[in-house]
Amino acid sequence: MEKLNLTGMTLEEMESLIESIGQPRYRAAQLFNWIYKKGILSFDQVTNFSKQLRQQLVDLAQIGLVTIEKQIVSSDNQTNKFLYKLADGQCIESVYMIDRKRRTVCLSTQVGCALACNFCATGAMDFKRNLTAGEIIDQLLAIQRTLNVEVTNVVIMGMGEPFLNYDEVMKACDLISHDKGVAIGKRKITISTSGIIPAIKRFTDDGQRYKLAISLNAAHEEKRSQMMPINKKYPLNELMNAAKYYTSKSRHRITFEYVMIAGVNDGMEDALKLAKLVKSLKCKINLIPYNAIDNHQAPPSEEKINAFIRPFLNLNVVISVRKSKGVDINAACGQLYNSFN
Ligand code: SF4
Repeated sequence: MEKLNLTGMTLEEMESLIESIGQPRYRAAQLFNWIYKKGILSFDQVTNFSKQLRQQLVDLAQIGLVTIEKQIVSSDNQTNKFLYKLADGQCIESVYMIDRKRRTVCLSTQVGCALACNFCATGAMDFKRNLTAGEIIDQLLAIQRTLNVEVTNVVIMGMGEPFLNYDEVMKACDLISHDKGVAIGKRKITISTSGIIPAIKRFTDDGQRYKLAISLNAAHEEKRSQMMPINKKYPLNELMNAAKYYTSKSRHRITFEYVMIAGVNDGMEDALKLAKLVKSLKCKINLIPYNAIDNHQAPPSEEKINAFIRPFLNLNVVISVRKSKGVDINAACGQLYNSFN
């Protein structure tokens, strides 16, 4: 009989399992804590369980869904990129970044991605499959265990479009924020979407408290469709209505990610159009200078970035330029793909 994998199970699921083997329900909360808080990989480590219970669990179940195949550390030691192998042989990546007191992980939600954004390395891969909630949270647990650190922030911006794997992503986020588990606050977890409008509405109607970011990258309808083909299905004007729906109903700020590419979307006309698009929204804009994957596209100069920011200075909009992390190990935004091979 194939063993159950406990990584990815909710507390309620563990309670049913524990009761099904004739053990008291409270044992499930202890087990949940050992797996998600302490990050164990073996039932032998569960020192407050009897030998008999540990053996029952060994016979029935296992822990852990991802195996670290490779790890690369950036030259400044602030970024680590991990390549994992999954049980079916597929590979995914995630990134760990240090920024002052913040310890952030960027997690993947799919193997490959079907959306083919033209600035993204993952988009150049085919879509293979969705990850399970267990495979999503296990990327984080493996990093904490390997580096002996406590992660403080999570960004769901790795390989894949999280809102095309909505249920498993939400289940993973609920596990990550559960107070008996990893216990990272909901407002320390950001989910970034390319703009799947029905899922933005669902996220809003569900009253989700996780932070929401939209990968925008262009304020012109046509330009955005060229960069992000999903814009043909969910056009910018409708996307902005969905963003407005989110901010007014949730009363939370929304973040727009804007990857700046020299000569593509970094002009004054782009900045003015973007300012007009977002000025009535409670939002933050993250400008992310592009990291060259090849020689076709390049980041803008500092002067261009400074000029781009100017139209926003009199608006009630927070704008920041994100310093790219892990450029020398291809760990920056849009660079996650099977680059270890
Ligand atoms: S940017 Fe995100 S949605 Fe677009 S191809 Fe890359 S992983 Fe997919």
